[in-house]
Amino acid sequence: MTEQNQNKKVVVIGGGITGLTAIYYLQKEIKEKNLPIDVILIEASHRLGGKIQTVTENGYVIERGPDSFLARKTSAARLASEVGLENQLVNNSTGKSYVLVDNELHPMPGGSVMGIPTQMGPFVTTGLFSLQGKMRAAADFVLPRSNVKGDQSLGQFFRRRLGNEVVENLIEPLLSGIYAGDIDKLSLKATFPQFHQVEQKHRSLILGMKKTTPKPQKNGNEPEKKKGVFLTIKSGLQSFVDRIESKLDPNSVIKGVKIDSIVQSDGDSSYILQLNNGEVMKTDSVIVTTPHQAVQSMFSHYDFFEHLKEMPSTSVATVAMGFDEKAIKQDIDGTGFVVSRNSDYTITACTWTHKKWEHSTPKGKVLLRCYVGRAGDEAIVDLSDEQIEQIVLEDLKKIMDISMSPEFTIVSRWKDAMPQYTVGHKQRYEEMIKNVEHQLPGIFIAGSSFEGLGLPDCIDQGEKAVSNVLGYLNK
Ligand SMILES: Cc1cc2nc3c(=O)[nH]c(=O)nc-3n(C[C@H](O)[C@H](O)[C@H](O)COP(=O)(O)OP(=O)(O)OC[C@H]3O[C@@H](n4cnc5c(N)ncnc54)[C@H](O)[C@@H]3O)c2cc1C
Repeated sequence: MTEQNQNKKVVVIGGGITGLTAIYYLQKEIKEKNLPIDVILIEASHRLGGKIQTVTENGYVIERGPDSFLARKTSAARLASEVGLENQLVNNSTGKSYVLVDNELHPMPGGSVMGIPTQMGPFVTTGLFSLQGKMRAAADFVLPRSNVKGDQSLGQFFRRRLGNEVVENLIEPLLSGIYAGDIDKLSLKATFPQFHQVEQKHRSLILGMKKTTPKPQKNGNEPEKKKGVFLTIKSGLQSFVDRIESKLDPNSVIKGVKIDSIVQSDGDSSYILQLNNGEVMKTDSVIVTTPHQAVQSMFSHYDFFEHLKEMPSTSVATVAMGFDEKAIKQDIDGTGFVVSRNSDYTITACTWTHKKWEHSTPKGKVLLRCYVGRAGDEAIVDLSDEQIEQIVLEDLKKIMDISMSPEFTIVSRWKDAMPQYTVGHKQRYEEMIKNVEHQLPGIFIAGSSFEGLGLPDCIDQGEKAVSNVLGYLNK
């Protein structure tokens, strides 16, 4: 960016998947339409990818952070295809999954959507709930619509419709796997607004979900072989990041430099960025894609970001363990399990990765990936690797017959990494964005702290930021 250059300047802050998507699509537009815009990305650490990080070693593909994304949200597969990774996309193998309640693995009842039953047979026969629990859930058929105005917690909504037992033994462990949060604090509107809409439209959640959930496709008389609902990149999600990076203009990425503050320039409508290496940068527009704590700190001069100080994040760790297959005496038929808070376990979930993602593990080996840490239960993340490994192994041995030590263990800590969309999140976010639009035109905020934390949600937000920037600069 030289003094004589008349091009408009855009800075993308943060090189996680949101920021990478933003710079990728912005550069694409600039090239295709020959736009007079320069864009750079500034990332605080020395690598791109943010929470995406893969270890590929000795034939294993081990994800330290996210391991896959929902296939029905199409933006992630589209971006992977755009950068030439179409033939690396793979669906998960389907298989039984379980919920661990009272030290026993119960198969996930067939036909349940996020724990809401849509088929009666499996729900009636499951050992997950007592007879009273099932009868309480059946009250959903007759209960009136809720008349809560505004937002409510997921716990409040589901406990009222289906009762505490279904919530605690099925819905909470499933949701915990996504948000590592407290179901009685997470916002219904910001996480699963569709369930509220189903209730408002059909009154009964069970009947409404039954009507709105697509039936499994039949192929002649044979039911079509079930395809996994998740996709990943066979060579690891880090290779997705690397491939996007390889498509960017070589001089458009700055690593190892943190933005300390952003203020509007006094004289014109541009912005002054203070970098932690002492430099100052002037730009016309900024796409901010960092976690909310960093957003608040960069904009500490503006009080409408203050509420972000109160937005919680939970800490989690993933623990990947590789074994020789002989080490597992009695294997379990399935791809993994989630753990109810009512169980005496520290792990919150475990994936039998060698079965769910066959490409991830060499033949003759077993790869287990466990999660620890969730809202209110995060101290374990601060223990040493050895202590975490021991606790995880003790838990696994309660339900699996493991006769040998793991050949390796990889502990990945994610401190304050899971943003919590608590009740009122959407409203607070919308108010903040309204203030940004009025008082800081040309600043666009995106990323996992705001409108969805799944990889496709982050990619959608990156794309939306690009169209907002182009609209702004075009004015
Ligand atoms: C353990 C774990 C498992 C997950 N599993 C899944 C999964 O299976 N599927 C799924 O869809 N999602 C999953 N998620 C969620 C998903 O990984 C994240 O929501 C997503 O990767 C976040 O992307 P992002 O770009 O918004 O933020 P980040 O990846 O956090 O990137 C933000 C970047 O900003 C940089 N930064 C911060 N401050 C500054 C600053 N001041 N200046 C410059 N740069 C800065 C950071 O270094 C970072 O690189 C998981 C998350 C975790 C932690």
